[in-house]
Amino acid sequence: MSDVLLRVRDLRVHFFTDEGIVKAVDGVDLDIERGKTLCLVGESGCGKSVACRSFLNIVQPPGRIVSGEMLFYGGADREPVDLAKLDAKGRQIRQIRGKEISMIFQEPMTSLSPMYTVGNQIMENILLHTGTSKEDAREKAIDLLGQVGIPKPDRLIDEYPFRLSGGMRQRAMIAMALSCHPNLLVADEPTTALDVTTQAQILDLMLELQHNYGMALLFITHDLGVVAEIADDVAVMYLGKIVERATARVIFNEPQHPYTRSLLRSIPKIAMKREELDPIKGMVPSPFRRPEGCTFHPRCPNVMDVCRHVVPSVTQLDDTHTVQCLLYEPEPVEQARS
Ligand code: SF4
Repeated sequence: MSDVLLRVRDLRVHFFTDEGIVKAVDGVDLDIERGKTLCLVGESGCGKSVACRSFLNIVQPPGRIVSGEMLFYGGADREPVDLAKLDAKGRQIRQIRGKEISMIFQEPMTSLSPMYTVGNQIMENILLHTGTSKEDAREKAIDLLGQVGIPKPDRLIDEYPFRLSGGMRQRAMIAMALSCHPNLLVADEPTTALDVTTQAQILDLMLELQHNYGMALLFITHDLGVVAEIADDVAVMYLGKIVERATARVIFNEPQHPYTRSLLRSIPKIAMKREELDPIKGMVPSPFRRPEGCTFHPRCPNVMDVCRHVVPSVTQLDDTHTVQCLLYEPEPVEQARS
């Protein structure tokens, strides 16, 4: 039986603006395995968050999924459902969202309303997706708040989110996301806004709960330190494309794509002098001015002439390792040299 929980193929999400079309996700292929952690990494503006929002079919206008497949094997029969084909406001996707797939955000107030108590919001999700009574839903909400490390959960359940600290709000959001035991938790930079100590506590908590619940975790981050701690697999994203995909061990020890190597070289190390820092040259280009050919070519230390006009395709280096770079495609390189 397949271990794949979500299989994404050639996903394209475009934003139709007055200034032009932004191809935020431009042909993404991804497999998320049951019970494993996949980290999606890349600089800000590379399309990571849009890709993940599309997995829940919550892309906001003027954006929309224009093509591709997102096969979700989450049901008891493991029959695939193509999330890309579901009506974003329809019954089927609403049954999957919050129950089979949950999402947590960098800013907890994105999913917690200031108008209702923490308990009401967790209970609402439980009541929506299960046939349980109000009393049982309240008991379960208190239990969940306890599991995520909130002290005196039977009292805090009646508090409003704005009365909690940032770390406590993040814990409450995790409790809400886990309230129906999802198969997949999508976490969009959930620890970026927290101080280092709280960040470490929340990461430990998420890993513990992932282990207890046996769920898959899709973790979006630009922090490679976090990736090193938690990832089984890593997908590196640049301007809407997955440019390299491999196990975490391979990404950290044998990265092949020049962008992945540049990201790894730019991590500051303890005792490193300021002049030894090696940041990536240039900036992520404006989505309205995508470079021709390989979109990374203006910043690439290995750029060749061919890169300026040929778009690289995906090269399979081994069973679990893919890269999208002309260095690994013999033909275009030979053409350029001849
Ligand atoms: Fe660099 Fe060329 Fe590979 Fe793009 S295709 S990453 S420019 S070597």
